[in-house]
Amino acid sequence: MSGINPARRWQPAFYPFKKEKFSRRLLAKTELCIKGPLFGCRMCGNCLLQETAFICPMECPKGMRNGPCGGVTPEKNCYVDETRKCIWYAIYNRSLRTGREEKLLEVLPPLDWNKTGTETWGDVVRQVRKTGTVYFVKSLLSRDKNRKDEAWDKVFKTVRQPEWWNGDSEYHKPAYNEPASGLEAKLRAGKFVIATEITPPLSSNTQNLINDIAIVKPWVSAINFTDSSSARPRMSSLACCKTTFDNGAEPVLQIAARDTTRTGLQSSAVGINSLGIKNVLCITGDNPRTGPSPTSNMNFVDIDSVQMLWILRRMRDEGIYLDGRKMKDPPKYFLGAATSPFASDPVLQAIRDQKKVNAGAQFFQTNLVFEPELLDPWLEQLDKRGVLDKVFILLGVAPLKSYKMAEYLHSKVPGVRLPQSLLNRMEKAGIGAPEEGVRIALEIIDKVKNKKGINGIHLMTLGWESIVQRIVSESGICPPSPPAEAGQALKGG
Ligand code: SF4
Repeated sequence: MSGINPARRWQPAFYPFKKEKFSRRLLAKTELCIKGPLFGCRMCGNCLLQETAFICPMECPKGMRNGPCGGVTPEKNCYVDETRKCIWYAIYNRSLRTGREEKLLEVLPPLDWNKTGTETWGDVVRQVRKTGTVYFVKSLLSRDKNRKDEAWDKVFKTVRQPEWWNGDSEYHKPAYNEPASGLEAKLRAGKFVIATEITPPLSSNTQNLINDIAIVKPWVSAINFTDSSSARPRMSSLACCKTTFDNGAEPVLQIAARDTTRTGLQSSAVGINSLGIKNVLCITGDNPRTGPSPTSNMNFVDIDSVQMLWILRRMRDEGIYLDGRKMKDPPKYFLGAATSPFASDPVLQAIRDQKKVNAGAQFFQTNLVFEPELLDPWLEQLDKRGVLDKVFILLGVAPLKSYKMAEYLHSKVPGVRLPQSLLNRMEKAGIGAPEEGVRIALEIIDKVKNKKGINGIHLMTLGWESIVQRIVSESGICPPSPPAEAGQALKGG
């Protein structure tokens, strides 16, 4: 155990995939003996300690390398294993205390599993030689901070940012002019949009799905399909999106890192355009622990949501696969990410969100918000970081159906909280709870529809698709289709 690593909980180091030479094994053992007790090192083979305030992020059960997921509990414990602190909060807090928070913005690569379990020191020595040992040592001894930083980066940044990744802390403007999707076109035109979510069916019969699409289509600009949320398998988001497109509505494909590898992500990216899907939302996904038994692997995602955005953005804007192969006709899509405005302190949350925008997020869909008056500190932090004019934000709103549902969301869903006054209202409403829930949703929409930084609503009806028409019409927000078309679609449904 270590006094330097605040949240250390013993976890075994990775083991190399193949047997290494004796000299490399000896070096790896030495590295582990020193970095293990000091930093909680797990020998991932691509050390990020300088960017993570010298706390090894590999203690995170999901293996998140670019910041926390939205799952931290109110006590700042990890929701996958509540007996441990979320390692990413320890990293964020130490970074803030030591003035290293800007380092958290660098988009860090996924593991190269060929190197996992092996030493990193050999790479550092080779890079020092390449840079010039004398230059490196002299620069480190120099009093000139810039020179010192430059020499340091020439060695360590090159080691942690392999050529196939090339991550940085910069914003990359999308390299295309015409909007990739109808949703993007509306947001760019300054329209306040409404998107909604339809729960994917449990069987392969699409009739109910087609009916639900027809019900909501005239009232919303896009329809989201979750990717087996709560780790409970349902019809794939991809299949639902294709059905949506075939039925004349605009889908948003969700891809959860939980079930995605780097290979699968890239092959999906080139495939989705051919199916007419132009909006993609990258999320980390609920851990299998939240799903049914028997539980699948709770450890490690191959790529996290920031890495997914980085890969997809580079495929679209630079026309390259992760391995450097060039594409003749790169895919086109509007890239989104999830955010949870109340999951943590607004300062920390804004850093995490800026990183997603830098990686490629063009729109955010937020977690459910029930206290719109508390959004300001988060929006101010995003504004301070120059993020608000680079991303469109769709606020998550749900019409509550019962007191039980309100209580469940408040106590069980990470990042969602309901004020006592709303819980009281729902309890008092009794059998009139659904009506009270709609009233609350309308009040929330009213409070945010003219708020700077909020560009639309993401209406999560949780199976109550028929309420979409009423909420949109009573909120005073113009539906995307004229009423005549709305009538036809409803009849068709
Ligand atoms: S899984 Fe999420 S909550 Fe748990 S340590 Fe990792 S980032 Fe923190």
